[in-house]
Amino acid sequence: MRLGTPIGALLAAAELQPDALDRLIMGGPMMGFALTDLAIPVVKTTNCLIAATASELPSAPPPAPCIRCGKCAQVCPMRLLPQQLYWHARAKEYTKATALNLMDCIECGACAYVCPSHIPLVQHYRAAKGEIRDKERDRVQSERAKERFQHREARLAQQAADKAARRIARAATKAKQAPATEAPRPDAAQPVEDPRKAAIQAAVERRRGRRSADLGPADQGD
Ligand code: SF4
Ligand code: SF4
Repeated sequence: MRLGTPIGALLAAAELQPDALDRLIMGGPMMGFALTDLAIPVVKTTNCLIAATASELPSAPPPAPCIRCGKCAQVCPMRLLPQQLYWHARAKEYTKATALNLMDCIECGACAYVCPSHIPLVQHYRAAKGEIRDKERDRVQSERAKERFQHREARLAQQAADKAARRIARAATKAKQAPATEAPRPDAAQPVEDPRKAAIQAAVERRRGRRSADLGPADQGD
């Protein structure tokens, strides 16, 4: 049999009489759960299928109040307190149920089987465990989201601090370089010479030069 085979096809191959079928259970008489749709496929945990008539597997009578007989605790293989778990699960007191090790329940169904009040104890446990897992998953996701937010805030603050430090360093470097670059150059500091005066000065210099040449070195010494 392949995984994914519809349960209906499997029962048809086993020559099921659909009219006689009253309850279809997957997973055993105590730990199994009822199926309502024959199109449900076979999965890897499908270890047993019970197709029972009404006389083979009569419906449980309606549950009565717990009479605190303690029979459920006597048969629990995990040494739990099924009666207390039942009360806390029903009242949605999940913290108390968890403190009594509800998550250790293996859902064997022994407690519900011996219960004289026919209380579907395992159904209550399954529902409570599902809600506890959902709450725990939400809590973990919320914690992760909070951590991500805090890391992002810290990263942004660090980036802003780095940016500010770089800006300050650039300003300090610029301030150091400013006197050297902005100092007036010697030639640039000189006032612009009047071209007319310069031409007169050059003519005077030339004339002096010619006179010196005409007089010669001996005359200059006099
Ligand atoms: S066996 Fe049923 S009636 Fe008895 S204590 Fe447990 S839950 Fe209550
Ligand atoms: S179903 Fe859970 S509480 Fe009930 S007998 Fe089994 S292990 Fe114990």
